Amino acid sequence: MLSVNGVTKKYKNFLANDNLSFTIDNGEIGILLGPNGAGKSTIIKSIAGLLKYSGTIEINGLDNHDMEAKRQLGYIPEIPALYDTLTVEEHLEFIRRAYKVEDISVKEKLLERFELSDKRKKMGKELSKGMQQKVSICCALIHNPSVIIFDEPMVGLDPHAIKELKQVFQELKAEGKSVLISTHMIDTIEDYWDVAHIMMNGKIAATKHNRPGNPEDKSLDELFFEITEGTKA
Ligand code: ADP
Ligand code: MG
Repeated sequence: MLSVNGVTKKYKNFLANDNLSFTIDNGEIGILLGPNGAGKSTIIKSIAGLLKYSGTIEINGLDNHDMEAKRQLGYIPEIPALYDTLTVEEHLEFIRRAYKVEDISVKEKLLERFELSDKRKKMGKELSKGMQQKVSICCALIHNPSVIIFDEPMVGLDPHAIKELKQVFQELKAEGKSVLISTHMIDTIEDYWDVAHIMMNGKIAATKHNRPGNPEDKSLDELFFEITEGTKA
């Protein structure tokens, strides 16, 4: 479970996150949807423990700076940060050892799951953006985290890779993980989410739960365009 409580982040005088609070339960997929500059990456980096902020962030009830909390978190940054001259296999081995994961079979399982088995000897710099993204995801999952945060994971992926990634989100949900995904592209969101927070100017402007309700409720599309364009749907 991920819990964000009253998080505020300023870059000098600029308020990038203004008192954000939300939770993602086990087995839930949460979306942060908002235009560029809304503050999505800022809250994701704060959850990952990369920024200073006020407020609290907990991972399974532990402060996110706690070592055990870090062990339970998987973070896929917006831009994959691979080592140019390590192979795909060496990336996974490096992270496996860093997290002291004893079971070496996890590497093989991830390589297969992400159709990277035939790319195992390729170096980071030889991979396409889509493949780099897959390696980045494998590295984030190797220690079997229970909370996984993805920053704009769909950017630069081809339609097949996007379809695969959506499948991965569902698998993580089925395993009872808490998944948080940021995106600025409403058209990449289908029906796999449980809760969506629409972000604008550092705030959560609206929250929608994905459950059958009043047919007169606004759709996520309607809410998003109303908020981001300032027009009434
Ligand atoms: P998003 O991911 O939703 O596109 P970000 O969280 O990256 O938005 O950025 C939110 C706002 O904070 C933007 O206006 C951005 O220019 C600003 N910002 C982000 N990082 C920094 C930084 N390191 N220094 C100053 N301003 C920043
Ligand atoms: Mg961003």
